[in-house]
Amino acid sequence: MPTLDDLRRTLGRIDGRGYKAYKDLEGSYQAGEFLLHVDHVQGDPFAAPSRIRVQVPQERAQFPRGLFSTPVRRLALRDYLARAFARAIEAVVRRRRGMGTSGLIAVDAGGQEVLDRSAVGMDPRMIEVRFVMGLPAAGRSVLGREAEAMFCTELPQIVRRALFFANLPAAEVEAFVDCVEDQEALRAALGERGLVAFVGDGAILPRRSGVDERPLGQGAVAFEAPSSLAVEVPVPNRGRIRGMGIPQGVTLIVGGGFHGKSTLLRALERGVYAHVPGDGRELVAALPGAVKIRAEDGREVTQVNISPFITHLPLGRDTARFSTENASGSTSQAANIMEALEVGASLLLIDEDTSATNFMIRDRRMQALVAKAKEPITPFLDKVRQLFKELGVSTILVMGGSGDYFDVADTVLMMDEYRPRDVTGEARAVIRRYGSGREPEGGEAFGAVTPRAPLPEGFDPSRGRREARIDAKGLQTIVFGTTAIDLSCVEQLVAPSQTRAIGELIHYYAEHYADGRRPLREGLGQALRDLDARGFDVLGPGKRGDLARPRIFELAAAVNRLRTLQVRLSRRQDGA
Ligand code: ADP
Ligand code: MG
Repeated sequence: MPTLDDLRRTLGRIDGRGYKAYKDLEGSYQAGEFLLHVDHVQGDPFAAPSRIRVQVPQERAQFPRGLFSTPVRRLALRDYLARAFARAIEAVVRRRRGMGTSGLIAVDAGGQEVLDRSAVGMDPRMIEVRFVMGLPAAGRSVLGREAEAMFCTELPQIVRRALFFANLPAAEVEAFVDCVEDQEALRAALGERGLVAFVGDGAILPRRSGVDERPLGQGAVAFEAPSSLAVEVPVPNRGRIRGMGIPQGVTLIVGGGFHGKSTLLRALERGVYAHVPGDGRELVAALPGAVKIRAEDGREVTQVNISPFITHLPLGRDTARFSTENASGSTSQAANIMEALEVGASLLLIDEDTSATNFMIRDRRMQALVAKAKEPITPFLDKVRQLFKELGVSTILVMGGSGDYFDVADTVLMMDEYRPRDVTGEARAVIRRYGSGREPEGGEAFGAVTPRAPLPEGFDPSRGRREARIDAKGLQTIVFGTTAIDLSCVEQLVAPSQTRAIGELIHYYAEHYADGRRPLREGLGQALRDLDARGFDVLGPGKRGDLARPRIFELAAAVNRLRTLQVRLSRRQDGA
């Protein structure tokens, strides 16, 4: 195998030549303590930077087995190493070295959430990091000396700093891995304890701003569980942790405006992921099947059975197989719920701030004025208990605007100057004092969740002469062939790497499992199981380091927002 000296010689030879000469670097090198793979060289200094990998044998890296002895600990260590690699880049790479991306070294290290990323891989023999480098250029010609400094000086320093255990702060690494392990144990323990969510004492829920997910510093009020809802959960490293357990069923979060209701709900939404130590939400957990539901007018809907919520539309439009290119607030919210149920949601998280009013409530006076027969919408209020009783699906709902929900709540939590109070008893007393006077409108049963089977012809990633053009634009948009998928209302998507992976996963799913017979849930589940079993490279040959595993809910949400989607309804339930 060529060595770094060979790489140096190549750089000497191509110095000053046209940028394309950098292609000569592609290949693998024995770089002393590690292997260097130049997988793909960018076409010009302004194109996406070059894709590079390093591999360090475990004998050299010397990580104690205990740090990656279980799948959860390994995932945590991989996430930590991506961050350590990013920090080392920060410390070592000091200069811009030319135009465009020249001099750049970057790794996908993520934000506050700990995710399964393709940036760092690990097995018992090897640690692998995938990253990008901007190969330096002046005009369109190779700057060989600058490239040499990057490959032969900076990179070995980065590798040594970030991937050799002896050079890392051991206590910090262990604390990180332990912390993530505790979080996953906490989340896994919820179900058997009859809980759907947990918020640890001392948690810091508010964020710095709408665009800064780091914890609010000054003035943040730490969370403290009301004693009636306090539980202790044992976790492997920290021992027992105390906090508020939210039981299964229907939970209402009430309280005056600006008292911290939405902040609590947002923390619960993110509680499906582990967080980095110091985030403030390390001890916030929600069921893995927790799905944020909101209104999303304007979205595309393809043959979704929304009849549990909406029937008898004017002009006789069918709501058992409802399609629209431009959903209203209420139909979009109904579709979002039914689609989440279709792929296995176990907990719905809803905030009145982002809900359609007519989907949520219909009070006595409105019932008196507009007869049930003239109102296609059955409000969520009349369905939320059936959801729990018949399907076992719990709901946590922020509702400051309507006390009619007291009738259907198992637990009522009040946020009072950022402090939670259990006001279930008080809400019961209010019910006795003031009846809602409503007529129940929910009918006998919740209704059918109809599985759909996507057809392969609904997925066409081609564009012009290119067979597959799939691209993510930041967090919220996927370009799939000639169509764009808008994910701006899919609020539990947390990293652009997830968005990129979703684009690739849709293509993989379409090629392997979308056959017009297999229900969506099964097909997407199978695609994710393949990813888990065989790694990110099932998605393509590019050895990409910029992907992160999404949940089935966000993956399904993207499929459901694809404007070209075509589905067949399951036979069994047709016409239900
Ligand atoms: P609500 O939904 O009840 O109207 P929000 O959750 O939107 O209230 O919170 C209002 C403001 O209070 C936000 O700016 C938020 O960052 C801040 N906030 C929320 N919780 C806390 C807390 N525990 N400590 C300090 N500030 C908080
Ligand atoms: Mg709010």
